[in-house]
Amino acid sequence: MMKSYLCVGAGFSGAVIARELSEKGHTVHVIDERSHIAGNCHTERDEKTGIQIHRYGPHIFHTDDQQVWDYINRFTVMMPYVNRVKATYKGKVYSLPINLHTINQFFGTCMSPAEAKDFIANLGDKSITDPQTFEEQALAFLGNDLYQAFFRGYTLKQWGMEPTELPASILKRLPVRFNYDDNYFNHRFQGMPKNGYTEIVEKILDHPNIQVSLGTAFESVDRSEYQHIFYSGPLDRYFQYAHGRLGYRTLEFREIRATGDYQGTAVMNYSDLDVPYTRITEHKYFTPWETHEDTVCFEEHSSLAGENDIPYYPIRLVNEKALLDQYQALASQELQVTFVGRLGTYRYLDMDVTIREAIDLAKAHLAVAGKVGL
Ligand code: UDP
Repeated sequence: MMKSYLCVGAGFSGAVIARELSEKGHTVHVIDERSHIAGNCHTERDEKTGIQIHRYGPHIFHTDDQQVWDYINRFTVMMPYVNRVKATYKGKVYSLPINLHTINQFFGTCMSPAEAKDFIANLGDKSITDPQTFEEQALAFLGNDLYQAFFRGYTLKQWGMEPTELPASILKRLPVRFNYDDNYFNHRFQGMPKNGYTEIVEKILDHPNIQVSLGTAFESVDRSEYQHIFYSGPLDRYFQYAHGRLGYRTLEFREIRATGDYQGTAVMNYSDLDVPYTRITEHKYFTPWETHEDTVCFEEHSSLAGENDIPYYPIRLVNEKALLDQYQALASQELQVTFVGRLGTYRYLDMDVTIREAIDLAKAHLAVAGKVGL
């Protein structure tokens, strides 16, 4: 017998789950309150220039997960792309993530890998044996000078608080290298979809058992029509903010248009505290296989999300964690709803992890539903 499911949100979580269920013969209704699919991965071609724009900020696909890589390649051609980021600090440009080039640039040296390793080890604060905060992690491994230059200002702008208040896990996203490898990621697979992320999600959703309704808020839908719901909207919103609001950082993108080239690379970080934005992305550099005469850039400004702002980064501090516990307790009582994705579980998730979890959750659900004969 065909069963009917509701997926709330047409980002990677909702789309991947819908696809898994639909391929097993179930009918799935996917709703999204926005007028487009693909959530914050949404890309679209700029009308004037034809450049592929990452509407909600830069997304680079990278993973160590062979299955997820195969999955994404079912729906698009992944073009070779390596994320190489630069940083401007006090009027100079450096290579990121911190690598041998950065170290030699910053200290005006020409150290070998072994020399740099010793040098940086000496700068590290040895009194910090078990770093808990972002700052402790940076000071323990890099010392104060590199921390101040590349992390403190950027992080204050990005998170709106001192790195002493942030968990070490945020810094652990970034590698430090003692060679000239300036690949921002350590993962085995990396690439950019040939025609953008929206097309991938469109293809994932392109199945006869899937119906998509855009401009449709969860609150406006009759839930009784569905036997189970996969909800990728904000967790606190599902419960009408009963315990208060979970904190998010939001982003504002200020567009810059120019002829020719603007900055000569996809991502330039700005680590000075007195520069109001965190980074500038030049979109055409995300598709190096295309040629465009003109250019479109986004200056990225981060701030605390207000009630009507788009939530981007979950702020997982002590207060939020306590609130999250309360919402998770409520969520565990909702037996007909599975909470998924970045907003549904309130986590800082990369695209590959989102896809992996969506596949696993759909499979686990089908296995259990099959056993209890639903
Ligand atoms: N970060 C930093 N300086 C940089 C880049 C990153 O201090 O030049 C810190 C910052 O706190 C940021 C975190 O490292 O939030 C993770 O950086 P990533 O580039 O992974 O952030 P995303 O691209 O997800 O915004």
